[in-house]
Amino acid sequence: MKIICIGRNYAEHAKELNNAIPSEPVFFMKPDTALLRDGEAFYYPDFTKDLHHEIEIVIKINKVGKHIDPQFAHKYYDEIGLGIDFTARDLQSIAKEKGLPWEKAKAFDGSAPLGKFVNKSTLGNLADINFELKINGQSRQVGTTKDILFSFDNIISYVSKFVTLKVGDLIYTGTPSGVGPVNIGDKLQGYINGDLFLEFEVK
Ligand code: ZN
Repeated sequence: MKIICIGRNYAEHAKELNNAIPSEPVFFMKPDTALLRDGEAFYYPDFTKDLHHEIEIVIKINKVGKHIDPQFAHKYYDEIGLGIDFTARDLQSIAKEKGLPWEKAKAFDGSAPLGKFVNKSTLGNLADINFELKINGQSRQVGTTKDILFSFDNIISYVSKFVTLKVGDLIYTGTPSGVGPVNIGDKLQGYINGDLFLEFEVK
């Protein structure tokens, strides 16, 4: 399986990092070794001094597809969950300045914590999902899919023009504003529509 991440899918987040609002989806990938499941502890990597949280809605692909038309994209996923796209912001800034790829900053081991999934039918209107990241009990990021620039269906259609989607692939659909640093000892909790989906500690 592979992990596809969408960048700059919430206008307020693009602005907070001084990025232009994209006219088409921006995507990058993480390897399967980035996954961190079942509340396993995350170990703060020694190559960064500015590790940022990005809370993101995650969709799980359930069918092989290429060149998927947006009107059929909803048939390619049943389950939705929540994850974090950990980013070594200091390394990413250097890579951006130099026009280099982001893998060192984004694709390292454990950089994709993932919580539970539920059937999308239980979440109501997918264009109106609320989600939140709390650190040590305090709210740090609050988002709603009302604000996404590219819908889940449009993301699936766009990515599948370039990359064949396979069963079990995960798409991290972008983060709302409020990204910021995490520290050793922090306890992270992620919620969708008020329900706990993700919980782990930084060690
Ligand atoms: Zn992200």
